[in-house]
Parts: sequence; C-alpha cells; structure tokens
Amino acid sequence: MFENEKISMVIGRQKNIALIAHDSKKHDMIDWCKKNKAILERHFLCGTGTTARMVAEETGLPVRGYNSGPLGGDQQIGARIVDGKIDLVIFFSDPLAAQPHDPDVKALLRIAQVYDIPIANNRATADFVITSEFMNNEYTHDIINFRKNIEDRANTL
Ligand code: PGA
Repeated sequence: MFENEKISMVIGRQKNIALIAHDSKKHDMIDWCKKNKAILERHFLCGTGTTARMVAEETGLPVRGYNSGPLGGDQQIGARIVDGKIDLVIFFSDPLAAQPHDPDVKALLRIAQVYDIPIANNRATADFVITSEFMNNEYTHDIINFRKNIEDRANTL
C-alpha cells in the first residue's frame, strides 16, 4: 500500500497553548500573560503545575495544570504534542541556571521540532508568535507520516 511520507495536519483557529516558565521567569510569564490576556482568553491554556497555578491565580485565565516540570510536567506536555493535543508552546526557559530536569526540557524541544509545533523559548519570540496572523486563522502544516514510518521500518529493519 502506497502512503505519502508526510501528512497534512491543521492547527485550528482556537489553539491549545502550553505555558511553561522556569522559576526565574515565572513573573515574566505572568506579566506576558496579563499583557496578552485578551488574545489568550480566546484559546485553551495548559501548563506545567506551578506555572499554570501562578498564571491562573494572577490573571484569572483558566489554565489546566499538569505535574510540575521537574516531576514530569514537561514530559506530559511532550506526550500531548505527540497526541496532537497541543498546538503551541510558550516556554520561558532560564539559560543561566542548571535544571534538574534538563533531559526532559531537551526532549520537549525535540518533540516539538518533530511535530512542527511552534515553541517560543523567550519573550521576544512569544511576542512575535502571539501577534502572528496564524493566531486568528487555521494553519496547515506537513508532518512526518508516522504510520508509513513504522511500515517502512518494520519492512526494512
Ligand atoms: P513548574 O515547572 O511550572 O511546575 O515550575 C516548570 C519547569 O521548571 O519546567
């Protein structure tokens, strides 16, 4: 059976947005969410545990919380990307502090790349993303056809 290498996926107008901020960036994230509240309230928000809680409390926006990042929250968000349930990640990471869950952070960045999910890892990028025309529109992108990938691998390895 012939299948294409890529499949087209559509990110809808209303997006599932994941918010993650390392400790030194949490207030930056809250401030960014406050400034962009009018846009963010049109979408579905989730985030790592502490970030989600703090953003929800400080902004009044509903934010579904996963586990705290060091306790697996980044991995939960990565798994949701694989399932096609997260469309955009705003990740204010701290480039000046070692993280106990550095492998999880790398894994999240990698899986976002694999699934062609926009991921903003500083405030300037987040500003560019949130003001993009695609925030109000559907966005179609081609991602690896994983069924074909498995078929090919199973047939050739
Ligand atoms: P937190 O996790 O929101 O629970 O602090 C963020 C992180 O450090 O990855």
